[in-house]
Amino acid sequence: MSLRDYRDFAPLTERISKAIQTGRLSHAYIIEGDSCIDKVKFAKDMIKAALCIQDPGWGCDMCPVCRKIDHDNYEDLYMVSSDDRSVKDASVAELQEKLKSRPTGGNSNIAVIDHADLMTLRAQNRLLKTLEEPNPGTLILLLAENTENLLPTITSRCIIYRLGNYAAKDSTADLTLPRKIMDMVAEHAYFCEFKDKLTKEIKDRQAAFQLLDGLERLLFLYLRGEEPGNVRKEKIAEHVRYVEEARRDLIAGVNYKYAIRNLILKIGG
Ligand SMILES: [Zn+2]
Repeated sequence: MSLRDYRDFAPLTERISKAIQTGRLSHAYIIEGDSCIDKVKFAKDMIKAALCIQDPGWGCDMCPVCRKIDHDNYEDLYMVSSDDRSVKDASVAELQEKLKSRPTGGNSNIAVIDHADLMTLRAQNRLLKTLEEPNPGTLILLLAENTENLLPTITSRCIIYRLGNYAAKDSTADLTLPRKIMDMVAEHAYFCEFKDKLTKEIKDRQAAFQLLDGLERLLFLYLRGEEPGNVRKEKIAEHVRYVEEARRDLIAGVNYKYAIRNLILKIGG
């Protein structure tokens, strides 16, 4: 897919395209976005835009370079992913070795680290060396759900792009409980009142996930002005981040009562 086709992210893709066309692409980017956004695909489309022969800056999907990237057989593109909930130091070490070699297809070695926010501390510290002194032409894309899990020394060396697409969230999510909760937040309800409500309504992990889906959907509607809500825009972004954190906790196996309690404390605070 050409970067042109990402209409939801149009201002961002235009920036990327311009950077490529004017030769001002940085050597390291963080692409942050929810789990529902296919960040690997976006990264590959960005790389196509950077290397495409026919339509530089956007990607044509048809030239040999674009096709190789689409089919995961571009010689100088190295993908790293997480295994068993983390990206290990050994994987980053292996990548570093590959990035030292001379590119064979073009002028650039390119690395994509999926779930970069799951890199172990050691792996992050190792990567830091590459970010500090990359070989000329190297392009590193870190894909993450939450950049807060990355060392500040890493984030400060990267350009961060956030792929926000809350519209893609499940539009059928039940908003009854989320609305009630946000009303209670607006009324500054005491935590014990939330607790009563949540104990009654959230009886298992699945219900907890449903609440998160609903909250995220509701926050998106606030943002678009499609639902009256007394929440400032900056606050909405903050709440969305809290919901994402709670989701991560749930996925990581944190007790659902604890995860939701934590979330409410943050949103209510
Ligand atoms: Zn192309």
